[in-house]
Amino acid sequence: MKAVVKTGPGEGQLELKDWPEPSPAPDEVKIKIAAAGICGTDIHIIKGRWRCDPPVVLGHEFCGTVVELGSRVRGFGPGDRVVASNPARVCGVCYHCRAGNPFMCSKRVSAGYMIDGAFAEYLCIRPEVCHHLPDRVSFRQAALGEPLAVAVHAVIERTTVHAGDWVLVSGPGCVGLLTMQIAKLEGAGVIVAGIEKDQSRLECARTLGADVVVNTSKESLLDIVRRCTNGLGADLVYECAGVAVSLELCWEAVRKEGTVVQVGVYPGPIQTDLNKVMMKELKLVGTYGYIWTSWRRAVQLLSNGKVNTESMVSNEYPLTQFEEAFRKTQDGSAIKVVLCPQRSAP
Ligand SMILES: [Zn+2]
Ligand SMILES: [Zn+2]
Repeated sequence: MKAVVKTGPGEGQLELKDWPEPSPAPDEVKIKIAAAGICGTDIHIIKGRWRCDPPVVLGHEFCGTVVELGSRVRGFGPGDRVVASNPARVCGVCYHCRAGNPFMCSKRVSAGYMIDGAFAEYLCIRPEVCHHLPDRVSFRQAALGEPLAVAVHAVIERTTVHAGDWVLVSGPGCVGLLTMQIAKLEGAGVIVAGIEKDQSRLECARTLGADVVVNTSKESLLDIVRRCTNGLGADLVYECAGVAVSLELCWEAVRKEGTVVQVGVYPGPIQTDLNKVMMKELKLVGTYGYIWTSWRRAVQLLSNGKVNTESMVSNEYPLTQFEEAFRKTQDGSAIKVVLCPQRSAP
């Protein structure tokens, strides 16, 4: 089969290769991949800034159709449409696995950078991380299931947003736009901030229901946040950019006794003034991945149409055009780029 493979460590080294088609272990299902999203983490991986065990097929956000079952699999059948998540493997017996948060398992193995992922025609994974898709949810919509689960975990499970709150989302990438939509559903007023190169993403934020969008390259975010909140500042701030300047703005924009949530991934260690956390009596919350209940809600939100992922997919490419797909993801002109491994090049 064809697969987009990171062939060596460090920067670049990404190739479309003929790769062995996997067959399912007794406890795995084999999925024919319909759509797989390119994520900010994939960019960190190809820049050599994120753990990766090459040679490995990239791609950790995906959906498709079950085509084969391992002998011990129950509850799934050939033809089932599924969206799947990580972690691909966990120990199952540590404190975090037993407590229901497998992302914290120190034996966690993730598909798409530690073992083969979904930028390929097929992938085998354990059924525990597969979620059935209702017929009314298209693969195009479900391609964003994984980042949606991340946003659900951040907004609903790691923090509490109340009706009437003001929320700032800094960074209008895929997770930022989904974080905005969920904060809106929870009843908050939402300000979405980005920079000049995010212009199309900021426009998307507006069409998806953001109350205020701010281009911080042109406008003062602080002035706008103060105007919205009668000078108080935002109740909650979600840092979704993974950029130090964005975090600095978050410290300023959050109100005293407010909450700052770290959603984005920084390229490496950053310098910042943590006296802000002390002097403003802030709560600083980390959020990483999702738990099973995040997916239950994510699939429900796709199914009832409360969250719009459809219009966030700006570009779809066959595997043969992976270079163009990665370029589009990096230059900021795309909202979400999705690879469709069953499609052949035009
Ligand atoms: Zn991702
Ligand atoms: Zn564990």
